[in-house]
Amino acid sequence: MIKLTRTFTPIKLTPDFVRDGTIQFQTNGTNVWNVDWLKEALLEMSRYKCAYCECKLQVGPIYVEVEHFEDKANNSIKVLEWDNLLPSCKRCNGAKGTHDVIATPIVNPFIDNPQNEFFIRRYRIKGKTQKGKDTEGVINLNDQTKAVIERFEIGEKLEDLIDTCKEKQDLFIENNLTQRRNKFLNSFKRMLLECQPDSDYSATCATILHSNEVYQEIKDSMEVLGLWNDEFELMHNSSLEIILERR
Ligand SMILES: [Zn+2]
Repeated sequence: MIKLTRTFTPIKLTPDFVRDGTIQFQTNGTNVWNVDWLKEALLEMSRYKCAYCECKLQVGPIYVEVEHFEDKANNSIKVLEWDNLLPSCKRCNGAKGTHDVIATPIVNPFIDNPQNEFFIRRYRIKGKTQKGKDTEGVINLNDQTKAVIERFEIGEKLEDLIDTCKEKQDLFIENNLTQRRNKFLNSFKRMLLECQPDSDYSATCATILHSNEVYQEIKDSMEVLGLWNDEFELMHNSSLEIILERR
């Protein structure tokens, strides 16, 4: 989970639309939030990922669900309230169900910074505060049949990328050929791309990257070799901003 920012309100979400839709939901339970432009706007704010587990989502096949932070069954007045809506995958939305966030608060990544609430231990995202612990249980963040396995697979892929990148750097240091330098730089950039806020499971990947000693060695060497540049600095820093504590 990473911090998200609600940057805009969809133009089509007018006060009339909200009022009419809310009455419609309260009267006959219509899924008034189930419209593509609303889902698209939510996805744009979460970089096309589930706000809770960071799996990639689309309006199409791997479809997004509109999650009501204060559940719609008990807070029907907020069924179309923009600040109450989050983009979620089916798994997280289903796990949360009608959980009462007023009685037992959980992390809302549009409000809370997940860095203050969670730490990572062996691909499990654990609560370090009571709110974090409650979120872990309510969203079922460590569902072993899906969430943990997906974080494990992407994390192991990143560990391989780091090792490959180090091998390519060593080859370049051994023989200063332009093509070896380019192969190494491509591999380095690919590794950083996996850890950007718009990549899936980016908090996990960024945490792995920044706690990996080999990554630090590669970076230090690049500075000595004069290969470190503004683009890498930017990517390094943006990944550093979303890391979770690793225990
Ligand atoms: Zn999810």
